[in-house]
Amino acid sequence: MALKALDIYKLLPKKNCKECGSPTCLTFAMKLASGKADIELCPYLDENAKAVLGASTRPPIRLVKVGVGERSFRVGDEFVFYRHEKTFYHQPAILFRISDTWDEATIAGVVHEVRDFKLTRVGQDLLLNGVAVANDSGDPAAFGRAVAVVEANADLPEVLIADDPAALEAGLAHCGTFRPLLDGATEANAEAVCALAKKHGAPLVVRAPDFEPLVALVQRCTALGVADLVLDLDAPTPAEFVERSSAVRQLAIARAVPELGYPVYYDCSKAGELATAALSVGILKFGSVLVTGPLSHPETVAALTLRQNIYTDPQKPIQMTPGLYRIGNPGPEAPMLMTVNFSLTFFTLQGYLESTRIPCYMLIVDTEGQSVLTAVAAGKLSETVVAEAIKKFEVESAVEHRKLIIPGYASPLSGAIEDATKWTVMVGPRDAADIGAFLETEWKG
Ligand code: SF4
Repeated sequence: MALKALDIYKLLPKKNCKECGSPTCLTFAMKLASGKADIELCPYLDENAKAVLGASTRPPIRLVKVGVGERSFRVGDEFVFYRHEKTFYHQPAILFRISDTWDEATIAGVVHEVRDFKLTRVGQDLLLNGVAVANDSGDPAAFGRAVAVVEANADLPEVLIADDPAALEAGLAHCGTFRPLLDGATEANAEAVCALAKKHGAPLVVRAPDFEPLVALVQRCTALGVADLVLDLDAPTPAEFVERSSAVRQLAIARAVPELGYPVYYDCSKAGELATAALSVGILKFGSVLVTGPLSHPETVAALTLRQNIYTDPQKPIQMTPGLYRIGNPGPEAPMLMTVNFSLTFFTLQGYLESTRIPCYMLIVDTEGQSVLTAVAAGKLSETVVAEAIKKFEVESAVEHRKLIIPGYASPLSGAIEDATKWTVMVGPRDAADIGAFLETEWKG
């Protein structure tokens, strides 16, 4: 059970010495309660306090880093079951599976695909995370060669998939200093694989077909000195995965079974013809490292879009910076369209405006990231906000006319905006898809 800040405060030394980086012990207690500080930062805690606080203030799901450098990723460090309770912090990594039976050109092609894929959506660059090399050949030398090809073609995080410790060792010879994720430890090979993970400081996948053996295996691996673990729930179908991963998440965040407090791994390619569905449920239901066969372009776009939607903070709408934006090279007679700074609204309208090929201005006002309907209802979009934006962004020096197109859903404000700005208000369409026809008929007409 997680302790509240005041309960934690009672266990602190109350010196207010600032050595932990917080101005007071109470501030430090608040940070501990929200999982934003480590008890080790306070040098004055006695062993009893450390034992109590250590168990209750560490993140219920361990943060695990895979890879090094710019493309490395972190998974885990989650606190809630439902996204709306707080937020999800670390999005699942998606890695393309590569077989060591493929020829060099095919391996290099997939590596380049992962390295170069980029989808820009609502102002964010969405990327794939890495590759997972599988020892399908059963030959350690072939596995080592495949890993060497990956290493020669990109600087990407890797998963090394092999049951045979000799194959893992052959792969580690090429990437052992780059913190690959080893898949993995089982009942049969735990000692040898843990020794490799420890030697290379690599995180380790732990796989067992049921919770009891999984807990026992986690205990074994941690006793062997490997702290950064990722759980493979060995689910035979996507439905089983949802059931198991949901149970693991619930037990982990309740701190009921500390051995389940690790990120979850899912090799979706094992789901055969349901692999695409497996990837989707992996994203939706608490998967943290997801391995899939190479996806087509539309499949990749769908997966990254789904991931972005789930892993944006529901309490913080993605916002655009308010200001005056240009579409093309608008002149002094160009249309002036006002809308809110909810990024989805911005990028949707921007896309439709660009397709009209009519140069124009977008006046983006600050509604704290709320959509038009919500902002009107909440009073965040008002005549005052619009009038202030016109002044602040010197809109009157950009155009010679004084006509402002407002979103259809803001029509109740049209009169008030006219009074406050002295501009003529034109009520635009409710649906951004209709803006082209509106400009052709209402503006040009
Ligand atoms: S280091 Fe310890 S005693 Fe000093 S302010 Fe931080 S919590 Fe309090």
